[in-house]
Amino acid sequence: MNVQAFKQELIDYSKSIGIDKIGFTTASPFAELKSRLERQRELGYQSGFEEPDLDKRTNPSLLMNEARSIIAIALAYPTKMKNRVQSKEGERRGIFSRASWGTDYHIVLKEHLIQLESFIMERFPDALCKSMVDTGELVDRAVAERAGIGWSGKNCSIITPEFGSFVYLGEMITNIPFEPDEPIEDRCGDCTKCLDACPTSALVQGGQINANRCVAFLTQTKGVVPEEFRDKIGNRIYGCDSCQTACPENKGRDFHFHPEMEAEPEVVKPLLKPLLTISNRDFKEKFGSLSGSWRGKKPIQRNAIIALAHFKDHTAIPELIQVLMEDPRPVMRGTAAWALGKICGEQVIDVLNKAKQTERDPEVMKEINKVLETRMD
Ligand code: SF4
Repeated sequence: MNVQAFKQELIDYSKSIGIDKIGFTTASPFAELKSRLERQRELGYQSGFEEPDLDKRTNPSLLMNEARSIIAIALAYPTKMKNRVQSKEGERRGIFSRASWGTDYHIVLKEHLIQLESFIMERFPDALCKSMVDTGELVDRAVAERAGIGWSGKNCSIITPEFGSFVYLGEMITNIPFEPDEPIEDRCGDCTKCLDACPTSALVQGGQINANRCVAFLTQTKGVVPEEFRDKIGNRIYGCDSCQTACPENKGRDFHFHPEMEAEPEVVKPLLKPLLTISNRDFKEKFGSLSGSWRGKKPIQRNAIIALAHFKDHTAIPELIQVLMEDPRPVMRGTAAWALGKICGEQVIDVLNKAKQTERDPEVMKEINKVLETRMD
């Protein structure tokens, strides 16, 4: 097998199927990454969504005995919507982050990786291939960095010189010993714009994030959002783009290479009030194809309540009262109590006192009492 010639063939093929960037690295362990992840764990900076086995995350040979190299791919996604939402005055909307626009990127990238696998298998039927996107064991960003896709920015994103950081990443471990590519030099320099832009100071320092403070993570949790973060979430109902939009490397970047990644404005910037009572079936129908729906409707609904409070939307008071009095989920009732405290005038006292008569959940009671106490001061 002439591996070098085949590498070029594979690069050419990847371009023909719409892969915007491809890079290659060895399958050797990510030793430095392992110590970084251990440190993150010690500090309590992990989100809990990660693969717990650090050896699997950092040693490709544990995932494939004969692993010899890793192929990293990147697909650029749009940063601006082609069509604007048709909003009437006073209508309040939430926003999904850009990585959640269009068809779930796990599906899109997987399809591209499967095509690459088939291309490899046609030439080399004995080849072994193991592909993954985001939820796989390996750390996509670490693989992409070592494979020369981009450098790891202070905002913890991979920044490609060609497309900025608005790229989806995926990778494939193989037993083919491809020649590795060179990593790209870090170009962040003295810049700290992403650190300054982060609404919750989640970027502890360049390249280190405390996931528990990150708005993108907070919007995906299912419990009560700690109060200190609620005002910072604004109208983000899924994800956060602040550290990427602030980055000068992303200035003017907006690529529309993949029709399946185009946003439907009414879906990614939905009206907030209807979200509060949306049925499971309607939620699935409207949002089911977005990666941002992976945690179900509860976090999105909770975030919609937070967003209505952010807008101080008086027209939402009846809906919020309904959530407070009738929603079976304590997280929703507690968040609604807080939101009513933000939006309402003195009428909130009567509403909350009425809710207290039937409320049995101690956490919701706490939220209600907190609002009442501030009104009594
Ligand atoms: Fe690097 Fe500046 Fe971009 Fe942050 S904003 S990732 S420091 S270039």
